[in-house]
Amino acid sequence: MDNATIKAQGEKYIMNTYRRFPFALVRGQGARVWDADGREYLDFVSGLAVNSLGHCHPKVVAAIREQAGKLLHCSNLYWIEPQVELARLLVENSGLDKVFFCNSGAEANEAAIKLARKYAKARGDSRYEIITMRKSFHGRTLATVAATGQEQFHRGFEPLPEGFCYVPLNDLGALKQAIGPRTCAVMLEPVQGEGGVYVAEEDYLKAVRALCDELGLLLIFDEVQCGLGRTGYLFAYQYYGVEPDIMTLAKALAGGVPIGAMLAKEKVAAAFQPGDHASTFGGNPLATAAGVAAFKLLLEEDLPRRAREIGAYLRTRLQELAGKYRQITEVRGRGLLLGLEIDGPADEVAVACERRGLLINAIHGHVLRFLPPLIIGREEVDRAVAILDGAMAEVFGNNAY
Ligand SMILES: *Cc1c(COP(=O)(O)O)cnc(C)c1O
Repeated sequence: MDNATIKAQGEKYIMNTYRRFPFALVRGQGARVWDADGREYLDFVSGLAVNSLGHCHPKVVAAIREQAGKLLHCSNLYWIEPQVELARLLVENSGLDKVFFCNSGAEANEAAIKLARKYAKARGDSRYEIITMRKSFHGRTLATVAATGQEQFHRGFEPLPEGFCYVPLNDLGALKQAIGPRTCAVMLEPVQGEGGVYVAEEDYLKAVRALCDELGLLLIFDEVQCGLGRTGYLFAYQYYGVEPDIMTLAKALAGGVPIGAMLAKEKVAAAFQPGDHASTFGGNPLATAAGVAAFKLLLEEDLPRRAREIGAYLRTRLQELAGKYRQITEVRGRGLLLGLEIDGPADEVAVACERRGLLINAIHGHVLRFLPPLIIGREEVDRAVAILDGAMAEVFGNNAY
């Protein structure tokens, strides 16, 4: 089928929940993808921070092929070898002790919310409220929507599960004020992605950790997007030198195969007993075999360092652009999770980029988010920036400097 046919049939049969570009991607390799009409694009969206190893990394493809021929699925009634191996890799490379596997970021956060509540109950206290950040994003299930500190995701779905309240990121005073007798945890993204690419400050995160320790609150880091090398560190929290009690992962964890994981410190994890939480597909052999291959690549090729270096280069190039277009009001982010604040129609810039062969993500109408695969090189960064330059010249026209 060509783009037009796929789009027409999609509009007929698929629920209308996404604003989509009018083409279908059918093939990818490295940082390049092709649509159904054979057009090539440079991919700076990476399936929204999923394809960190690029498309179809041969080692991930081989691991999936091999596992598919051995055992696709079996229940968590039995031990699953690649699940155990992926858990070992995660534990040995993080400050956390135990892993629960599921299938998505929202599910990982659901598991974290349940564990935080159960941990309080198991200690005989009745606290259940979790404080999250404004502009956060934690998923689309009812509880994770409630955890998400953005009104636009709440509207129309009330009543939402209770037990969440919101404070601005990097405002310690507001957090202190929000903590009450029912508070059991603080949950945040060290680098907010979906909300517009906002970075937690170092002093703030250290102070939040100290506050949680002082008051006996759990600290939950949602690293679904910012984890796994994206910000230049294997886990975004490693930049800060503070550790969470619970951390969630998903997106890039299995190189493109759906997966989610919730990790916790031993004493917190112990609040979950058999029967407390479960998932049919969670940690299934196919997903975790892909995860083992993806995680080993992340380590072997030192992709966190690469994200740090190439991210610094991309940032410099974007700052150059900011000197050229007064509509770029800020360049922010960390590693290869970068955002350009635009005083102008960010969506139009994204469309103009697409027509020139660059996939890029516009959020909230005023931010361009950069999520290239961590394997990109300088030459690809240069190409993307040249395309972006052309797109901005077109959209901003004579209103540039
Ligand atoms: C994408 C995302 C989620 C939700 O993940 P899904 O796999 O779409 O459920 C949760 N938290 C953060 C920080 C995310 O970026």
